[in-house]
Amino acid sequence: MMRFRQVIDPLSPENKLLLATGPMSGTSAQSFSKWIAVTKSPLTGTFSRSLGGGDFGAWLKWAGFALIIFEGRAAQPVYLHITDGKYEIRDADAIWGKTTSQTHAYLKKEHGPKARMVYVGPAAEKLVRFSPIISGRRAAGRGGMGTVMASKNLKAIVIEANRSETLANPAEFKRLVRQQIKGYKETMDGVVFQEFRKHGTVMGLDWFYSNFGSIPMKNHRFGELEGWPENIGMWPYAEVTEKHVGCYGCMIKCGKVRRIPSGPYAGISSEGPQLETAWAFSGPTGCTSRDATIVASHRCDELGLDTISTGNTIGFAYELFEKGILTTKDTDGLVLNYGDHEPMLELIEKIARREGLGNILAEGVKRAASHIGKGAEEYAMHVKGLEMPGYDPRARKGMGMNWALGNMGANHNYGWPQQEIHDPKPRLLDPVADEGQGDVLKWNHDQTAALELAVACYFSSHHLQFFDLGLVAKMLEAALGVPRFGSEDYLWYVGDKVYNLERCFNIREGFDRKDDTLPKRFLTEPLRGGIRDGEVVRKPDAILDQYYDVRGWDRNGIPTKETLARLGLEELDRDIARFRR
Ligand code: SF4
Repeated sequence: MMRFRQVIDPLSPENKLLLATGPMSGTSAQSFSKWIAVTKSPLTGTFSRSLGGGDFGAWLKWAGFALIIFEGRAAQPVYLHITDGKYEIRDADAIWGKTTSQTHAYLKKEHGPKARMVYVGPAAEKLVRFSPIISGRRAAGRGGMGTVMASKNLKAIVIEANRSETLANPAEFKRLVRQQIKGYKETMDGVVFQEFRKHGTVMGLDWFYSNFGSIPMKNHRFGELEGWPENIGMWPYAEVTEKHVGCYGCMIKCGKVRRIPSGPYAGISSEGPQLETAWAFSGPTGCTSRDATIVASHRCDELGLDTISTGNTIGFAYELFEKGILTTKDTDGLVLNYGDHEPMLELIEKIARREGLGNILAEGVKRAASHIGKGAEEYAMHVKGLEMPGYDPRARKGMGMNWALGNMGANHNYGWPQQEIHDPKPRLLDPVADEGQGDVLKWNHDQTAALELAVACYFSSHHLQFFDLGLVAKMLEAALGVPRFGSEDYLWYVGDKVYNLERCFNIREGFDRKDDTLPKRFLTEPLRGGIRDGEVVRKPDAILDQYYDVRGWDRNGIPTKETLARLGLEELDRDIARFRR
């Protein structure tokens, strides 16, 4: 019987951490070899999931594991070693406290160059609430997946495995992969992809800044910043790009390794920064040093910090300093002036060590604001406790309300409204329309849920549009031999079901309409500067009402009895009925 258990502390032994890979992982299919972490987030208290890249998903599958559930807590630091269907728990004393690259090097030495692994950094061990699980330089980044892993005294998972493939219909699967690769090659030959290949996601820095005015500056107050995009834009990053890298089984290779050629940080490199990280260490603090963004990205990867949450919490501190809510007495003498990157780099270290102000910021902006008081809540930019990515909701209202409605809060990897940019499916959206986006937001949420259920790369499908749910359905059927998986309509149904299931989890935790909102700043304070100067989010309730209606939810955002029955979730009615109105 499907009933939720009672509310638990995300950092208690009772919380579960699920690590899974997809049914097509480790096969010749393109962009299907990711892995996914699922847990109750220590940052938001909501259901949370996050996809990671690299090779680990393929290795997990080859080792014979589709899903691992971690619960409880080891008595001392350990790591899990898996080899060909067997596993053992090993002592992690030698790597506890070590950075991610030190951990990686130790485990490679111990288990050989063919081993693949995920691990947490020292920040996770200190229970910084926004620590990711890292694999190489890829991360399951948002919501504190690594924090939960470290709370179980689990430092790493190491896999040794040989390639293997089990498919229900190998001939049909091969045909579909050939079709997929043909499509990839055609798209990759195009002019747009050639540009993307050169720059990666940082192309969006220039594009969104100039054409949409949607890059938020100085803790989400301004739509423009001197030095953008000349210093923080695709061309400065292109100058220092060394190579293109990607996940197992993906020709796209969206990652860019960048190395600082000269100056005080010469030689430091990072796989990135990607668009969100480049923004996170520039926009919130008003710093326009490209090299500082690379150093910040490198430090976060080494220490195990989510770059978006880290950049935001630091931007929040800069604004509190400007307002006089924080002084040098609170910051251990650091002067947090907008535009100065040295204090930003120092605060990254302090957060990871939970030292001084860093100990407060390590709780995320929502908890930090409540701890600091003096009106600091006004300046904490988050949804449901998750810090906001690099798009201003006043300049892209569909994006803003996507986050307001998000089961995980302000997560840019979920339901990203492409329709505000160029995608006519199911229809284009005006980025500054005050209402009318609800049905499209539901479409995006369901599509994301369906794609991630197959552990398909959301970025290559939803953003870059290399494949759609129709192809995913056919490939799933060929891989697993289950006829209903071959129906695109069925995947849409499952996406809807997943979204409702997550919603019910959150309702049980106390979330409802009051939480489907944006920080007051976006509703009352006009955006200043840039091409969307003067915009505010005017009618959030109209968008909520439309979304709830198309979902089959009541006015409090609770799925109706009929909706649960339609999705085969009627057993959850007992958990959520009391929240309806
Ligand atoms: S598009 Fe990028 S993130 Fe997605 S699978 Fe390919 S390399 Fe990995």
